[in-house]
Parts: sequence; C-alpha cells; structure tokens
Amino acid sequence: MANRFKDLKWWQKLGVLGAIASILGCLVIFREYLWLALKWAWAGIGSVWSHLTDDSAIPFWLLYALLLLILILARKVAVSWLGGLRLPSGVLTPQHYYKDVFYGIVWRWRYPSKHYLRPEEFVPFCPICDLELQRTQFESHVIPVHLYCDNCRKLFTIESESVSGILDYMVREIPRRIRSGEWKERFSSGAAE
Ligand SMILES: [Zn+2]
Repeated sequence: MANRFKDLKWWQKLGVLGAIASILGCLVIFREYLWLALKWAWAGIGSVWSHLTDDSAIPFWLLYALLLLILILARKVAVSWLGGLRLPSGVLTPQHYYKDVFYGIVWRWRYPSKHYLRPEEFVPFCPICDLELQRTQFESHVIPVHLYCDNCRKLFTIESESVSGILDYMVREIPRRIRSGEWKERFSSGAAE
C-alpha cells in the first residue's frame, strides 16, 4: 500500500490527502451528531430488548415466536390445500378419460374435440403387458373376435361379439359413463389411470 502511494504522482497524492483530510474534518465537525445517533441506536436496541423480555404473563419474544410459527404452519396448510384443489381440475377432466377395460381387454381411444366427447379410433392393448394387440381376425362382422399379444403369446377371444358390435357398444357406453360420473371411479379403480 505504501509503495503504491509512493508511485502516485504529486497531484494524485495531494488528492488522496485532501480526501482523507475532508473525511477527518467531517468527523470532527459532526462528532456530536454522530455521538447522538449512536446513543439513539443504543436506546432503540435497549427498548426493543426490554419490550421482548417484559415481565407480562407471557414474555413478548415467546409470543412473537409463537406467532411466527403459526404463520409458517398456516402457509404450509394453505399451500397443500391449494395443491390438493388444483389436482382434480388438472387431472380429472372427462377428456383425460381415454382408456378403460372392456371385454377383458384394455382399449384406448380419442375424442374429436374437447367439446365433442364421442369416442373414436379405438385401439386394443394387452391387459398383461400393454402391447398393442394384433388384430388377427378383425373384420367388422366376423364372430368371434381374435386379438393376439406377441409378448405374452396369448390369444384373446371375445365370444359372440363382432368388431362392429364391440365398437358400437363402447361408443355408446363411454359417453354414458362420462354423463353419470362413473368415469371418475374408473380412475380410482386403476382401469383408466
Ligand atoms: Zn401381453
């Protein structure tokens, strides 16, 4: 530091000395105010401390600590409650009901729009491994209907139902479950998840 001060030019040294002198001068001139400010600050700390440790029925610091604890707990409860409210509106809408089990087979479908919940484009899946099933015999009026899983090497047969009969039933049954509210139970049973 001293070396660096020596390296300065004379007019720079003068500037530094001038700055130090003016700070010292300010301290001398305003020392009484400074002392007063320190006294006020000390008095403030003292009064806060005496307020906190006041000999009322319950010490104030304990009261404030309890109040803080209650506020933290209330915030936690509110957050979890609001989170719980958000979940059903975010997840459980009829548009999210696009999977269910019919005839022992998992079916997935889609809706033309969120305002027109008439299911279409049904796709069958294996109820064991969830692979999309092969439609080995899937012409609309052929009975029985055969669906095959390559993974499980299992043939699923829907007796006495044609493909057109199966699709027609699901097209009518799914909107009925939406209207009656049964689709929500399908979520809780895990069939629609
Ligand atoms: Zn399978």
